[in-house]
Amino acid sequence: MEIKKVLEESSHYIMNTYDRFPVVLRKGRGMHVWSSDGKEYLDFVGGIAVNILGHCHPKVVVALQKQAQRLIHVSNLYHNEPQIKLAKLLVEHSFAEKVFFCNSGAEANEAAIKLARKYAKENMSGNRFEIITALNSFHGRTLATLTATGQKKFQQGFEPLVPGFRYVEFNDIDALKKTITGETCAVMLEPVQGEGGVRLPSHDYLRRVMEECDKHGLLLILDEVQTGMGRAGKLFAYENFGVVPDIMTLAKGLGGGFPIGAMLATNKVSAAFQPGNHASTFGGNPLACAAAIATMETLLEDGFILDQCRRMGEYLLKGLNELKKEHPSVITDVRGIGLLVGMELTRECTTIVKACMDRGVIINCTAGNVLRFTPPLIVQEKDFDHMLDILDDILGRLS
Ligand SMILES: *Cc1c(COP(=O)(O)O)cnc(C)c1O
Repeated sequence: MEIKKVLEESSHYIMNTYDRFPVVLRKGRGMHVWSSDGKEYLDFVGGIAVNILGHCHPKVVVALQKQAQRLIHVSNLYHNEPQIKLAKLLVEHSFAEKVFFCNSGAEANEAAIKLARKYAKENMSGNRFEIITALNSFHGRTLATLTATGQKKFQQGFEPLVPGFRYVEFNDIDALKKTITGETCAVMLEPVQGEGGVRLPSHDYLRRVMEECDKHGLLLILDEVQTGMGRAGKLFAYENFGVVPDIMTLAKGLGGGFPIGAMLATNKVSAAFQPGNHASTFGGNPLACAAAIATMETLLEDGFILDQCRRMGEYLLKGLNELKKEHPSVITDVRGIGLLVGMELTRECTTIVKACMDRGVIINCTAGNVLRFTPPLIVQEKDFDHMLDILDDILGRLS
């Protein structure tokens, strides 16, 4: 089909919730994707922190093929082996002792919010239900997670919001201390704010948040939907910051491109959920779990990919900092951890993103003026060299 016709049908049939680039992606392999007109792109977005092993990684493809032939779906009224195996893998490699599976980041956070409220009802004195989240955060698009999201622009038009959320400035421990009341039951944070513009925690912020939670008997919920599964150079970002949460949520990278979400917690906190309290028809579906097992096993093999992720993250930061020196009037800051990297500009980044796209390089823009890089963790130096050259050229033509 001619591209014009495809775009027409897309706007005719698909609900208008995304501002899409006029391109149809049809095939992917590793760092590359190809559009319907045969053009090749280097992909530094990777489904926004989803395709951690690149596109169509052979181990994920084979795992999906094998599982699809054996069993695609059964109800959670019965056990299935891939679900148990994946839960065991996650537990063995994290603080957590129990896992609840769902299908997306928003659902994982929704489950975390429900678990925190239920745990508070049963284990905390008084009436504690409030959850403190950070301004500029992003936790999802369901009503509760949209309310947890500390950004007005996502909430406007959907009021009334869900009661029981308060917001504090990220990285301001005093603001948090002042906001804790006799009704607070939990603090929920992204270890590194992703959608909010790749904002890193100051060196002891998360540790002090955890201390504050311990002091008041509050739960610490870490939303690792974007930062988890190796993105921050460790399997989970919290390992970088000397903290341990009570509840953690995962999605994006977990299935290597296949939709799956998870909410993990300690035994003590998990005990607040009993049969009937929470559920998901598709959660822990054998096909999704098979994809996630293959992804996680590949990621963990010798820690090779995690090492590579840290080294490549440093390499990208170095390259972007050189660009910053060359283009000081456009670039104000470069920051990141592992392969979650942002470059803040003095202007909106849409024209730059479009110019990159024209030249076969896919990068993302978040928070209006932050170029965000969330490439597959298998990215190589030559990929960054190519992208940095093009970016240098585009930035040079701007002013
Ligand atoms: C993407 C994201 C979500 C939402 O995940 P969905 O799968 O789109 O529902 C939640 N939290 C964080 C930190 C995210 O980056």
